[in-house]
Formats: sequence, structure tokens, C-alpha cells
Amino acid sequence: MTKRITPANPVYDDYDTDSEESHDPQFESLVRQMLERIGESPEREGLKRTPLRVAKAMDFLTSGYRTTVEDIVRNAIFSEDCEEMVLVKDIEFYSLCEHHMLPFFGRAHVAYLPRGKVIGLSKIARIVDVFARRLQVQERLTNQIADAMMDILGPHGVGVVMEASHFCMMMRGVEKQSSSTVSSAMRGTFKTDARTRSELMELMRR
Ligand code: ZN
Repeated sequence: MTKRITPANPVYDDYDTDSEESHDPQFESLVRQMLERIGESPEREGLKRTPLRVAKAMDFLTSGYRTTVEDIVRNAIFSEDCEEMVLVKDIEFYSLCEHHMLPFFGRAHVAYLPRGKVIGLSKIARIVDVFARRLQVQERLTNQIADAMMDILGPHGVGVVMEASHFCMMMRGVEKQSSSTVSSAMRGTFKTDARTRSELMELMRR
């Protein structure tokens, strides 16, 4: 029986599993094949429950496919006369690159200029997670967060900046351990008005 992790059932207990537990038999069998393929023996003690753990971990790391922004922001948008920039800085995120399925992770900074509507601040971090918990490229992730903010709030503008380190660069390939990648997506006044952009840069530096 495949057990799907949903927002209503956010339980990811990797360790408190009994030996008979099965999470997603097909996925687990794929992981077992992978272990054999790389020269391991899936039956040795340390690896016995690895397919189960990997299946659960992947379910969590890709839970963004089964969550929508609408689910998250429901009841968290408020009418408010505020027209000043709101910036949530240093939102930690963890994602998987779609080219290697290896992690990339870092910080997101999300700003918007309200037009009559504001959103609960913690929800902005949840929106980042919805898109981060999918197979991604950093540029698309950045754009999707900006577009979602535009859609749900209809603000004057949105600015998203993301800084990330990519395991596929750090562990393999060019092995540049200390490089980080910065991406940005500007919408509305953040795109058209240089003053709004420089106010964002100023607030981000603080
Ligand atoms: Zn990659």
C-alpha cells in the first residue's frame, strides 16, 4: 500500500519504521536495483531498510508535486492599506537539481510591494518550499516563486533573489566547493523602477 505524504499527514519518520513496513514497494525495488547496480548487497544489515528510507525521503523531497500554493495560502491573505515594501530575508531552502537529482540549497530573499493585500509572513517560506521540493533548476525555481507571489497577491511588484550551492558542482564535475550561484526574478515595479530595485538591494544588505 503506497502511503502518500500530504499536508494533512506530514510524518516523515525515517527511523521508527518496523521491518515489515513498506512505503512504496515499486520505488523501494528500484532503489534495491540501484544498490545492486553500484556493487552493493542490499541484504547486508546496514542497507536492509535503505530502500524504505530512500523511498520516504524522496517522497518528502518531492512533496511539492502534491502541494499547491492555493492549499498553503488559504486564509492567510489579508486586506491591508500598507504600500511599503515587505522583504523576508534568508529563507533557507533545499531542492534537487533536475539534471543530477543532487541537492542544491541556500537562501531565498522574497520581497513585494503590496497593493491592498498582504500575506502571512510564514506562508512566504512555505511557498518557497512548495517549489523547492520538486526537481528544479535554480532559475526556474526563482521565477516560479515570483510568479506565484504575483498571482496570489496582485502586488505592485515582486523581487526574488536566491543564492545557492549545488552539490552537482561541488561533489563532481568542476568540483568548485565554494562557488555559489545567484539568481533573481523581478516583476512589476521591481523590473520597471530602478529605485524600487535599489531599495530592495539596500534592505537586503542590512
Ligand atoms: Zn545538477
